[in-house]
Amino acid sequence: PDVDSAAARRAYELDRKHVFHSWSAQDLLDPMVISAAEGSYVWDGEGTRYLDFSSQLVNTNIGHQHPAVVAAIAAQAAKLCTIAPSYANEARSEAARLIAERTPGELNKIFFTNGGADANEHAVRMARLHTGRKKVLSAYRSYHGGTHLAVNITGDPRRWASDTASTGTVHFFPPYLYRTAFHSTTEAEESQRALEHLEQLIVFEGAATIAALILETIPGSAGIYVPPAGYLQGVRELCTKYGIMFIADEVMAGFGRTGKWFAVEHFDVVPDLLTFAKGVNSGYVPLGGVAISPEIAATFGTKPYPGGLTYSGHPLATAAAVATINTMEREGVVDHAAFLGNDIIGPALADFAIRHKSVGEVRGKGVFWAIELVKDRETREPLAPYGASSPEMNQLIAACKSRGLIPFANFNRIHVVPPCNISVEELKAGLAILDEVLDIADGFAA
Ligand code: PLP
Repeated sequence: PDVDSAAARRAYELDRKHVFHSWSAQDLLDPMVISAAEGSYVWDGEGTRYLDFSSQLVNTNIGHQHPAVVAAIAAQAAKLCTIAPSYANEARSEAARLIAERTPGELNKIFFTNGGADANEHAVRMARLHTGRKKVLSAYRSYHGGTHLAVNITGDPRRWASDTASTGTVHFFPPYLYRTAFHSTTEAEESQRALEHLEQLIVFEGAATIAALILETIPGSAGIYVPPAGYLQGVRELCTKYGIMFIADEVMAGFGRTGKWFAVEHFDVVPDLLTFAKGVNSGYVPLGGVAISPEIAATFGTKPYPGGLTYSGHPLATAAAVATINTMEREGVVDHAAFLGNDIIGPALADFAIRHKSVGEVRGKGVFWAIELVKDRETREPLAPYGASSPEMNQLIAACKSRGLIPFANFNRIHVVPPCNISVEELKAGLAILDEVLDIADGFAA
């Protein structure tokens, strides 16, 4: 693509002058200008090409600028750009149908939001109104969004600065065998002990005070922890036993990322509410939502749901969702993601774990993988402390970029989260770069 480097330099200068960025010390930022993107690649302001192994914020599930989705957005813009949520609209209705047909069980009513945080806010609100209870249980090592409630139910350090403890959130330890909180030695032990811990917590908090339990089906930016066998079924059973609404946050794990439409399908559980965003339309226009069980929907059958937003089911966003879902179906993107995980990424990362002493653990499914880096395999000391970066990690990120790869890195982890439709060749090229970068990481390890 044509890259206008003068325009890119101006974008950078104006950014530094006027743009206030998420999660950042504003004066310490040096943002890369992205001037163009296509498929699994982006181009910076100088026209240098990078393979996008981050899918941006793990949302461009069908890559950048898919022509079918771009055309659908343009067609919708020419026809009807916006309409208030109280009206019915073709794009919104069709998107709701396509999503409802793919969510598990009877989650057949869709409430649309602008993104993931507000989807979780509304899911919690629905659960509270449905149950008449207030508290929310959520896991450490999780992320549920940046708004007030969503960041309070978040379990990772992004919560700390905004944690007012006024939202009735109680955190529990999720299973994580590599750094077990339960002194477990096997996955089965970890699963059982994490469930015992959760049940105790429910009993001590008082089941009758707990409206909802929210869990990322496979936690994403907090570290990609595939739950051990039996854990999610156990959570489902505890929620049913104690009348707690089970909210599955599929904002990052949903829409093909794990090699299924939704990650809950791997574990054969049906939540009461399922939240989504990101991959629903590959992030081309902001969109999120909540898929709702018939019982919860019925609570708002004749009495109004006291919540809403101007852009609920925005035509441009939902038209993009319709085109994205149809494209994924037509091009077999979900099966492709499963194949990439089983046949390419899984084996490649298992091999890294053998050959690179800096690799403590690798884990994931589909195109949703984490490489956990350590200074010492014996002590498992992480290459960056919990909640922070380190000079070593920064060096590895820079090494990826200098080799033409944009990684997704967090604390002591590098995630392998390319688009679900990346080609085998592109994927192998990216993995080869990571292999080289892990040689550098090995130099930091005992
Ligand atoms: N839930 C999960 C699992 C996420 O990964 C994210 C974003 O990364 C969110 C919620 C919040 O979504 P948004 O940034 O669209 O508000």
